[in-house]
Amino acid sequence: MPEPPIKVITQNCVGCGLCVKACPFDAIALNDEKIAVIDLDKCTLCGACLEACKFDAIEMKAREAGADAALDGYCDVWVFAEQTGGHIESVTYELLGEGRKLADALGMNLCAVLLGSGVTDTAAALTERGADTVYVVDRPELEYFQDERYAAVLIELVKRHKPNILLSGATTIGRSLVSRVAVTLNTGLTADCTGLAIDPESRNLLQTRPAFGGNIMATIITPHTRPQMATVRHKVMQEAEVQSGRTGNVSIEAVAASLLEARTRRVRYVPEQESTVNIAEADIIVAGGRGLQKPEHFALLRELAETIGAGIGASRAAVDANWIAYSHQVGQTGKTVCPKLYIACGISGQIQHLAGMSSADVIVAINKDPEAPIFKVATYGIVGDLFQVVPHLTQAFKQALGK
Ligand SMILES: Cc1cc2nc3c(=O)[nH]c(=O)nc-3n(C[C@H](O)[C@H](O)[C@H](O)COP(=O)(O)OP(=O)(O)OC[C@H]3O[C@@H](n4cnc5c(N)ncnc54)[C@H](O)[C@@H]3O)c2cc1C
Repeated sequence: MPEPPIKVITQNCVGCGLCVKACPFDAIALNDEKIAVIDLDKCTLCGACLEACKFDAIEMKAREAGADAALDGYCDVWVFAEQTGGHIESVTYELLGEGRKLADALGMNLCAVLLGSGVTDTAAALTERGADTVYVVDRPELEYFQDERYAAVLIELVKRHKPNILLSGATTIGRSLVSRVAVTLNTGLTADCTGLAIDPESRNLLQTRPAFGGNIMATIITPHTRPQMATVRHKVMQEAEVQSGRTGNVSIEAVAASLLEARTRRVRYVPEQESTVNIAEADIIVAGGRGLQKPEHFALLRELAETIGAGIGASRAAVDANWIAYSHQVGQTGKTVCPKLYIACGISGQIQHLAGMSSADVIVAINKDPEAPIFKVATYGIVGDLFQVVPHLTQAFKQALGK
């Protein structure tokens, strides 16, 4: 029988239970003789018990030996180039900006993966932003995003070229795509990162993201498997600058027809009807919450938003009440935004809302309750009735902007 990858050295175990408490996966229990027993079906080999044990009673030998071999041959930093109808989404350029720093720190190449139909010429936009190589799969079946097809192709490319790091935007497409890829490749994935760096000693990718509703920043590593995969929040990293005329390798990749099969098909595409800016891209956001009282009152915010070129955000309370579409929700279970200016109207500022907007450069809060938590993060607070304050603001902006 092969030796288990992790084991308890029974003569050292004193039954203190520290490992039981430390295990995040409920994989350790004390038996009747007060000796720790590891359930290998639940254990993920995360190593938390090793750190917790003060008596050298847990050993993870096989993992260390095997892991080194498993990491061999993985090279380069990859960015999934998200595109819609041939238009590269700006999050891709942010990933190339950050990917360049990581690749340079590791002495590796920066590569982009471009999947789509009729997209080959678009590869030049990626090399101009710093990609050394662009892997292109240009097939009619990839005309629009479908998670089955895109994931199958991306998995094939990863197996073929073995990237060390694979980044994608924490967008609807990115989240849907790379979770499938990570599960199939049996590697780790850190979602929604706000910071990435290379550990100079281990050369592992340090993946930082808010945890526990934004109360702490957790730095996560994937030491035992490759590629190291992360989705990265939009608008957090700087876009790579355009270097006009910069070229790179464009590798046209062939894939088997079987990878392009899908059990789903798009029936039709219905673009959202919206007169204001998309909040994921917006430099200014005017957001409304339950304090608006009814859906019609969003018209007040729309007038302000249209005056200053802003997008419309909303709290979950407003979305749950069906006052506005989910695509406008800001927060933990909505979008993360990082505008230059965020004007929160009738939003109390619960932690789940703050998780999505507290990194805005300037926050203006309008709330009639002076104790509302939103004022703790606000740069400027206006205590007052939004139904009076917002029309005044709109008028003042119209005058100032000559509208
Ligand atoms: C797992 C989980 C995930 C969640 N995810 C999200 C998320 O992604 N985004 C999110 O927003 N929430 C999220 N929530 C919900 C969150 O906890 C709050 O319930 C929600 O943010 C409250 O929305 P609100 O501030 O609009 O409403 P309320 O908390 O009811 O606040 C309304 C505010 O309006 C003010 N007000 C009322 N009338 C006026 C007026 N005339 N003028 C000025 N001010 C006025 C009140 O003083 C009050 O402060 C989540 C909750 C959970 C449990």
